[in-house]
Amino acid sequence: MKCDCIEKINKLTEKDNYMLKTKMYRVSDTEIVSRISLETVAIEKKRGFRPPSFFMTYCPFCGIKLED
Ligand SMILES: [Zn+2]
Repeated sequence: MKCDCIEKINKLTEKDNYMLKTKMYRVSDTEIVSRISLETVAIEKKRGFRPPSFFMTYCPFCGIKLED
């Protein structure tokens, strides 16, 4: 199942010059999907450390489980 919330929201917000931030994730050898990411920040800045982000398995807008 796939929802189109991201596309719908981006269509509404593009006239105001902003859009949802998404990241590309590889879900299999042949498939890459665009997902909203939950970003983290480093508590203590350390050289070479990049805080990871999590990707959503459920749409944060409609609650549908996203395809994986
Ligand atoms: Zn949705």
